[in-house]
Amino acid sequence: MDMKKYLNRQVAAIQPSAIRKFFDLAATIPDVVSLGIGEPDFATPKQFCDAGYRSMLEGKTGYSPNPGILELRQAISNYLAGLIGVEYDPYNQIVVTVGGSEAIDATFRAIIEPGDEVIIPEPAFVSYAPCVELAGGKVIHLPLTMQEGFKLSPERLEAAITPKTKAVVLNFPCNPTGVVMTQEELNALAAPLIKHEVLAISDEIYAELLYDGRKHASIAAAPGMQDLTVLISGFSKSLAMTGWRIGYVCANPELLNGIYKIHQFSISCASTTGQYVALEGIARGHAEVERMVEEYDKRRQFIIRRFAEIGLPMCEPDGAFYAFPQISGTGLSSGDFCEQLLKQEKVACIHGSAFGDSGEGFIRCSYATSMENIARACDGIDRFVNGLK
Ligand code: PMP
Repeated sequence: MDMKKYLNRQVAAIQPSAIRKFFDLAATIPDVVSLGIGEPDFATPKQFCDAGYRSMLEGKTGYSPNPGILELRQAISNYLAGLIGVEYDPYNQIVVTVGGSEAIDATFRAIIEPGDEVIIPEPAFVSYAPCVELAGGKVIHLPLTMQEGFKLSPERLEAAITPKTKAVVLNFPCNPTGVVMTQEELNALAAPLIKHEVLAISDEIYAELLYDGRKHASIAAAPGMQDLTVLISGFSKSLAMTGWRIGYVCANPELLNGIYKIHQFSISCASTTGQYVALEGIARGHAEVERMVEEYDKRRQFIIRRFAEIGLPMCEPDGAFYAFPQISGTGLSSGDFCEQLLKQEKVACIHGSAFGDSGEGFIRCSYATSMENIARACDGIDRFVNGLK
């Protein structure tokens, strides 16, 4: 029987994540060293876990309020006021979600009418386009280049806007490029957004992972942009909490209420224990975050140096934990490069085309793994690239 006919057409049309397929292949090869994974190699710090454990022993094991425990929403509000100078009311402008992932999905579902266009500057995180399509929207791929530093300019943005444009996705620090936009650069994007009344869906999940003394910048802090911004973030990366599934979304109360309706009826609430773990991290975990960022920075500097030695050009990654070197000089496509590298050197990286067409010619290397693994992987990449000459 044709069971496919029961599937929603939009769902049937969605392709499985190219990253998953590659990991399935990597899993068949023993002793692989992986720069493929986009998650911290640190366990959640004990101090945070202890707070979750205490909350359980105190019997806080039931549902939390739908938008999240109030102390956590207050802590998020304080945190954002300190980080970007933007005030969000914990009572009607913040909802705690199941990771940044739920926030992304619920946001698109809340704002998109059939046929609405959402501009996604690429290369981009793999979930945005499927979530837009599943919500009935049309993805407008906006390919950015290394020559532009993988940054979105107001001119490129305005040229992509049509009367159907509902929103643009911004993700800085960026997965997969590691690129960061400054506050001045983000402020410049405000003019076309305000002029055409287009929302910014700003995924700031890597806000804590910045190097060389950089300060996090947000489109929400650009003059006139707070109401036009849906700020999405979470604790997976900054607090090494991927498995706890805690994120959040902040927006104008009317917009947030729409997102909240979806959250309330599909999710009820994020994990209560996870919320107590996140609360400890965001309210009292600064030293632990600093410790992890210091460690990522050592690895970042190492990988920048090694790719320069190997001769792979790259936009210097200023944030997140990814490097995105250009491999097109080898003559291989990014897919072939990664597959051959995996088979010959047992090194797993992600082919840049997984992040959109403009990622072709690049590979994503995560340095959220031990220095020993990074050194081994770089040696393998070095041998592989030199062997192609
Ligand atoms: N946004 C970006 C840019 C990401 O890289 C990720 C995780 N890879 C997420 C959102 C989702 O994170 P989570 O759901 O674990 O909070």
